[in-house]
Amino acid sequence: MPEGDTLHRAAARLRPALVGRPLVRFEAPRLLGERPAVGTEIVAVEAVGKNLLIRFDGGLVLRTHLGMPGVWHLYEDGERWRLPRHLVRALVAVPGWEAVCFRAPRVDTTRGDPVGHLGPDLCTPDPDLDEALRRFAAHPDPTVEIAVALLDQQLASGIGNVYKSEVLHRERVDPFAPLGDVPESTRRRLLATANRLLLHNLGTRRRTTVAGPPGSLAVYRRAGRPCRQCGTPVRMVRHGEHARSTYWCPRCQPPGSVA
Ligand SMILES: [Zn+2]
Repeated sequence: MPEGDTLHRAAARLRPALVGRPLVRFEAPRLLGERPAVGTEIVAVEAVGKNLLIRFDGGLVLRTHLGMPGVWHLYEDGERWRLPRHLVRALVAVPGWEAVCFRAPRVDTTRGDPVGHLGPDLCTPDPDLDEALRRFAAHPDPTVEIAVALLDQQLASGIGNVYKSEVLHRERVDPFAPLGDVPESTRRRLLATANRLLLHNLGTRRRTTVAGPPGSLAVYRRAGRPCRQCGTPVRMVRHGEHARSTYWCPRCQPPGSVA
């Protein structure tokens, strides 16, 4: 399996440069998930299948799925890169070194085991939504907010903070409704819409979820600006364990709107 070999070689190159050192700079223009904080120590570099995993102190794991085109390079500070900057998908810099991932089709972060327990991948053309719905139904805490549950990569993988808000707005669902109050038919709609939007944006450089110029979004980072549906100012709060931002329209998505 040459891919596995290649990955293991890459991990072996990166490991001595990165492990035990603090993150000084991080870039990932298409990252799905939480960003690792500058100053966080890197505790491990591993290759699993076609994934290269960089584990940070505190439990966050950066996963780059390299597919066929992806590659990791290691450069000393100031060294000239062998591939152009627009192909960068992840940059992990520590004192003295820059580890740069080019062309990886997928870059995400999760907590815990990022490959063993991931839910069905919504970035694929035909994800197993029944399996994802089973995982939602088996969630141990039905009071968890639907916006928080959508980010749980162990239920369904692929939805990051942008799509979370966009999908809830598109389906007119109250982001703060308890998971247990959201009917299965609505959960299925949310996942199917997320799947469609994720696929639509896989090959694009600027994430777009609504009609308009590239980069047009419905609510994400539009706090205070008018809802594209009804004109009501979009709102934002931070909530949940990691205080992630949620953007929503209080008129299109009033409390208890889950149908
Ligand atoms: Zn609205």
